[in-house]
Amino acid sequence: MDDKQLQIWVEEISLRSFGVPFRHRARFNGRLRTTGGRYFMKSHDIEINPAQLETYGTEEVEKIIKHELCHYHLHLTGRGYRHRDPEFKALLQKVDGSRYCQSLPGQARRKPLPYRFKLVCSDCGMEYLRKRRVDPKRYRCGKCKGVLKLGNL
Ligand SMILES: [Zn+2]
Ligand SMILES: [Zn+2]
Repeated sequence: MDDKQLQIWVEEISLRSFGVPFRHRARFNGRLRTTGGRYFMKSHDIEINPAQLETYGTEEVEKIIKHELCHYHLHLTGRGYRHRDPEFKALLQKVDGSRYCQSLPGQARRKPLPYRFKLVCSDCGMEYLRKRRVDPKRYRCGKCKGVLKLGNL
């Protein structure tokens, strides 16, 4: 599914469940990590985490979209759009939206990254393990201030 199909989907859910059109943009954002979706108060756009679609399928993502549309419609009509507002809670229940837009239930905690790189001092041979690729020119050996080289583990 791409952004265009997501847009059509969000517009369709908006009409079907809220009876009002969605007039802004919906798009996927792969950088959302623990969040299923996000509503932007300034642009009124909605972003959906594509990983949610892969992990939970369309049914769960539809609930996330409904959650974001609750923020959207309540905010645009000047009603209580925050999670703690009674209007938000009532509307969310009515349309059967996801209760969470952050840290979704059952979302596996991300495993810590393994060490994949090492910085090796070309003078004293000291090794420093790194999880991500780094630019060795930005560092110096902590022991002897020697020049470091990047290698794979
Ligand atoms: Zn929310
Ligand atoms: Zn060194």
